[in-house]
Amino acid sequence: MKKDFYVIALVCGTILAACFFCGCFGKEGELLVLEDSEASLEFFAMDTYMRVVAYGREDQANAAVSAAREEIYRLEKLLSTELETSEIYQVNAHGKGELSTDALSLLQRAVQLSEMTEGAFDFTVYPLMRAWGFMDGQYRVPSPSEILGLLGKTKVSGVLVDEEQGYVEFEADGMQIDLGGIAKGYAAARIMDIYREKGIANGLVSLGGNVQVLGTKPDGNLWRIGLQHPDGGKEYLGVLQAMDLAVVTSGGYERYFEQDGERYHHILDPSTGYPAESGLLSATVVSADGTLADGLSTAIFVMGKERAVAFWREHIAEFDMILYTQEEELYVTQGIVGDFSSSLLFEIISEEP
Ligand code: ADP
Ligand code: MG
Repeated sequence: MKKDFYVIALVCGTILAACFFCGCFGKEGELLVLEDSEASLEFFAMDTYMRVVAYGREDQANAAVSAAREEIYRLEKLLSTELETSEIYQVNAHGKGELSTDALSLLQRAVQLSEMTEGAFDFTVYPLMRAWGFMDGQYRVPSPSEILGLLGKTKVSGVLVDEEQGYVEFEADGMQIDLGGIAKGYAAARIMDIYREKGIANGLVSLGGNVQVLGTKPDGNLWRIGLQHPDGGKEYLGVLQAMDLAVVTSGGYERYFEQDGERYHHILDPSTGYPAESGLLSATVVSADGTLADGLSTAIFVMGKERAVAFWREHIAEFDMILYTQEEELYVTQGIVGDFSSSLLFEIISEEP
């Protein structure tokens, strides 16, 4: 009997303490079940529409999304190729310069990604991107000789990095870099860290084609992430259930122009200098590492299905992927099949060829 009393007292005490901390007595003193409050912000940065969401105690959630937006603005100021004051702009303007720790570590990730993907990811394509008019919207098809000339300035090996001094120098005149292929992924990953530091256990960010989720939904269920169909219709390619993952899609349908009946999109094949024509309409990469997922989605779009499958088999522990081809075929790698659903037929890519 006494024991029961203690149990009841303990339970009541715990509820009271919890209510005290959550401040969850209603007006008449009745007990309210407090749900996490949602804080979200929508804004435009890094050339895209962004949304950041956090769940938790109201003040914490609000502080977390504000800090998330600040972090994106900070990274944009640091990494933009267009803002004269950015470190990357200055390095591009002078062919050399100092980089802060953040910019330097991201540059090193970019170098690693380039090596890992055997050049499919190439952050030195910037002079070509400009020639095609993708940076200022003055679209044009450069002449073959112009492309050939710019290909000579497209080489990651020509970016000389001095880690100790925090210094970078280009081997050839006219070389320029653009970390835009991983900036959003890096920003998303940074925001997950900021959320954790601020005591947030559930949240998500959607930065252009980059989605990254922290934990589960507040109700404990997995997040459901819809993958945009390249034809732009209402139908999704599929839905992926996820927790603590980044889901990044690259597709030629995102940014392109048309000339003489030809369509030219913004993801370049660094080996040709022309928009990648790999037979893929979209490539989605799923990984716990947001920066990796962003860089790989671009690289895999360049690689095409066959090369991407071989590449995936060498890196199974690091990522999964969903590919959609010009032939309207949908492929999903083994590791995420259990979490993927689609109204379309799809083929599973397994570990064994
Ligand atoms: P988006 O979200 O616009 O699809 P991505 O993450 O796919 O962006 O990367 C495309 C951006 O990366 C381009 O805007 C360009 O600056 C740069 N880029 C283009 N081709 C490549 C490439 N092969 N490797 C690395 N970066 C590239
Ligand atoms: Mg990318």
